[in-house]
Amino acid sequence: MSTSRSDAAFRAAQALLPGGVDSPVRAFRSVGGTPRFIARGEGPFLVDVDGNRLVDYVLAWGPLVLGHAHPAVVRAVGDALRRGTAFGAPTELETELARRVVRAFPSIALVRFVNSGTEATMSALRVARAFTGRAKILKFDGCYHGHADSLLVKAGSGVATLGLPDSPGVPEGSARDTLVAPYNDLAAVERAFGAHGGEIAAVIVEPVAGNMGVVPPAEGFLKGLRDLTAAAGALLVFDEVMTGWRAGPTGAQALAGVAPDLTCLGKVIGGGLPVGAYGGRRDVMELVAPAGPVYQAGTLAGNPLAMAAGIATLDLLAEPGVWVRAERAAERAAAALAEAARHAGVALTVQRVGTMFTPFFTDRPVTDYEAARRADRDRYAAFFHRALEAGVYFPPSQFEAAFTSIVHGEAEAERLAAAAGQALAKKGA
Ligand SMILES: *Cc1c(COP(=O)(O)O)cnc(C)c1O
Repeated sequence: MSTSRSDAAFRAAQALLPGGVDSPVRAFRSVGGTPRFIARGEGPFLVDVDGNRLVDYVLAWGPLVLGHAHPAVVRAVGDALRRGTAFGAPTELETELARRVVRAFPSIALVRFVNSGTEATMSALRVARAFTGRAKILKFDGCYHGHADSLLVKAGSGVATLGLPDSPGVPEGSARDTLVAPYNDLAAVERAFGAHGGEIAAVIVEPVAGNMGVVPPAEGFLKGLRDLTAAAGALLVFDEVMTGWRAGPTGAQALAGVAPDLTCLGKVIGGGLPVGAYGGRRDVMELVAPAGPVYQAGTLAGNPLAMAAGIATLDLLAEPGVWVRAERAAERAAAALAEAARHAGVALTVQRVGTMFTPFFTDRPVTDYEAARRADRDRYAAFFHRALEAGVYFPPSQFEAAFTSIVHGEAEAERLAAAAGQALAKKGA
C-alpha cells in the first residue's frame, strides 16, 4: 500500500500547523507512523490521497453514524447552502433541530446550540455554577469533556480528589475548583461530597465513557450519582457529546433510566458539521442569556448548514429499523475481533455499548482509567498498523472508541475479520 502522497502532505503540513494537524490524536503520536491524509469519504470508506480505500471505524470520531457523504445529508446541506451560509439571525431550522432534541431527551426542556462539544460542557458548567452559586465541579479520571481550562484536569495523587492541571497553561486556580474521582467509584464521590458538599456545583460524567476507550457505567453508578447530587443540592450533568444516538437509539440516559439536570450534546447532532448543544431543566436553562443573566453567545451558533445536516441525520435515525443497523454492525465488528483474538490466543477484551466499541489488549474487564492504562498499548499500536495495512482504519489510540455506521454491512465486517486475523496472528503482535 503506497503512502507517498500522505507522507509528503504530512511534511508540508508540519511546516505550517503545529505537529501537522489541527487536533492532536490525528497525528498518530500514540501509535507511531504517519497519518493518512484523506481525499474523500464514501459510505463506510475513507479514500486517502494515495487512493487507498479503508474501511472506516473512526467515522470522524463519532458524528458519521450514517457513514460518509450520506445522500440525505448531502441533499439537506446542499439545499441550505444555496440559501446562504450564515445569517446571524434566527432561522426556523434551529427550532426544528431543537424539537428533535427535546423529543429524544425527555430531561431536556430548553436547549442552546453552540459550535463544539467543548463549548457545550464549558457553558453547561457556567450555568450550573450560576444556578447553585457554588464554584467546584467533580469529574472522573479518564473522562474527556473538551479542552476548557477547568476540565483539562487530572487526578492528584493519593486519596485526595483535588485536581491538577493536565496541560501547561491551565492555571492552578482553574484546577483547584475541579475534583477528580475514579470512574465507577461511588464511594469516592461520596467522600468528595463529605469533604466539599456545600461547594460542589455539579458532577459531570460521560454516562458511558468513550474517551478512555469504551467503559460502561457499573450497575447503579449513574443512579448513585443522581441520588448524591440531589441530596447535596448539586446538579448532575451528563456529557452525551459522544453517547448521543451512539450508546443507544437516543442517549445513554434512556438506557440507564436516569435523568440528569443538564445534558451536553455534539458529534451526531451536527451530522458531521461543527455543532454542540447543552440543555436540560427549564428552571436551570432559563438562566441563559437573553432569558437570564448567564452570558453565552456565538457568531455562527445554530449555523443553518449544521442545523440542516443534524435534522437530516436525526430524521433518518428516527425511522424504524435504521439505528439498529449501526448497532448490528458494531456487534459484528466486536464479534470478529473477539473471534480473531481467540483464534490467535491473544488476550483481548472487546467492550461495546450500542455503536461504540474498543478492543483492549488485556484479559480483564476495563472499569476505570487505571484499568485502561494497564492494557497493552504497544500491542494495540501493532494491531492498529497491521489492520491499516490490511485496509481497515481503527482509532490511532488505545484510549479512543471505534464506531460503526448504518452503511457498515456484512462485507465490511468480513474485511475487518480478515484484517484482524492477520493483525493478531503474527508472532509478537
Ligand atoms: C468529543 C467530546 C467532547 C468535545 O467535543 P468537541 O466538539 O471536540 O469540542 C466533549 N465530551 C465528550 C464526551 C466527547 O466525546
